[in-house]
Amino acid sequence: MPALPTAFTDSLQGLPGFREETFLQVHQSPERVTSIRLQQQKISGISAVFPQLDTTPVPWTSGGYYLSSRPSFTFDPLFHAGTYYVQEASSMFLEEAIRQTTDTGAPIRALDLCAAPGGKSTLIQGAIHPDSVLVANEVIKTRAALLADNITKWGAANVVVTNNDPRDFTRLPAYFDLMIVDAPCSGSGLFRRDPEAVEEWSQDNVILCSQRQQRILADALPALKPGGVLIYSTCSYAVEEDEEIMDWLMEHFEMENIPLQLRPEWHIVETASVGHKAMGYRFYPDQVRGEGFFIACFRKLGGPAQPPKIKAGFSSLPRKEAELVRPWLQNAEEMALMAHKGEAMALSIPLAKEIALIQKQLYIRKAGVKAGQLTPRELVPDHQLAVSTCIADNLPAAELSLEQALRYLRKEEFTPEGAAKGWNLMRFNGKNLGWAKVLPNRINNYYPKELRILKAGMPDL
Ligand code: SAM
Repeated sequence: MPALPTAFTDSLQGLPGFREETFLQVHQSPERVTSIRLQQQKISGISAVFPQLDTTPVPWTSGGYYLSSRPSFTFDPLFHAGTYYVQEASSMFLEEAIRQTTDTGAPIRALDLCAAPGGKSTLIQGAIHPDSVLVANEVIKTRAALLADNITKWGAANVVVTNNDPRDFTRLPAYFDLMIVDAPCSGSGLFRRDPEAVEEWSQDNVILCSQRQQRILADALPALKPGGVLIYSTCSYAVEEDEEIMDWLMEHFEMENIPLQLRPEWHIVETASVGHKAMGYRFYPDQVRGEGFFIACFRKLGGPAQPPKIKAGFSSLPRKEAELVRPWLQNAEEMALMAHKGEAMALSIPLAKEIALIQKQLYIRKAGVKAGQLTPRELVPDHQLAVSTCIADNLPAAELSLEQALRYLRKEEFTPEGAAKGWNLMRFNGKNLGWAKVLPNRINNYYPKELRILKAGMPDL
């Protein structure tokens, strides 16, 4: 990787926990850390996914693991089945921050404001109470599409993906109990993984990022309830984007800082802002097994505010159509079925209760799980349903070999054994990859074209 700019290393001198020698060493070392987090609603243990690798738990998250080497995720059908998410280990600390600041035993409304590609959203979904509602938002349209794909793969029915500017959230005053702002930043914490970012780094950009972070927070904060929790994070070491943002928040808004409890063996560095002595947490790659990261937690103070009125109920699918959809779902009675442009949507009941309001105020990319297209006589099942956690487990299915699974995921010709006539789930190691329809003389592969594997080759076995 290129040498770190002197202006950059100079800017780190004197920062809490910064140790120049080991920091430079770790940036010159070829060693890379690979970590994943399991989708525990789909898979119970790490050995079911990577039996061939040594794995060690990431200490501050449930279902997070370091892998002894980096496998080819593209050639792993279980990756495409959404059984795990490849995520940087330091950023998984968000789970610990949520646990220490939020009552995870009660349903909440959560917002992940800067959510693409979706690592934190999938983590939040797994960390909060299952009857919660999670709004995963991304302002950049193309990135919102990527976010929606990753949320689809994760498979939960209580997430809505929106594509809005932070300022649009002022239309939902005092609505959220938990707000995560994983802000766009100058990215110095990821230099080891992204050497190109080293060349793009400049102090001017740090200042621009800091100003943008302030704008994003100022725009979004009215949507947080008094008493609600804000978790702010960056992957930058710059004080302007970290400690100074904490002071700025405390100066301009009625916010109280929430200190976190750390274990010494985590080697996370505590840092306090100069003005208000707000506590934040720094992760250095020479001290933790992960990349550079910063996180801080706050509670919104302030008097009672009027949350937006919620239109009670939701327009559920007419009975006849609902009957076509129910057999495809696990615990169908615990889901809300709704129609949207001729399609049947399966939402968690708490999300269904909120969706009319959210739809009125925000641009929705995806809500819950699309069950499929409704025709007068049947449901044409959607890919979202196949990889969801709410699909029935007694539907016709064919178990594929690794080679067949990769052919299926590439949309090449393949012959599943044991597939019955009609709609079949294509599975690898018991996990759903998508749909195929068996006709008398051929098989139609319904894996979404835009998701297919383009990379040639086979995994090293
Ligand atoms: N939370 C994500 C995850 O864990 O996968 C990573 C988020 S990334 C650090 C920051 C995100 O903020 C990017 O997706 C970027 O497109 C988005 N962003 C850029 N400018 C923004 C703005 N002005 N307001 C809100 N979000 C912005």
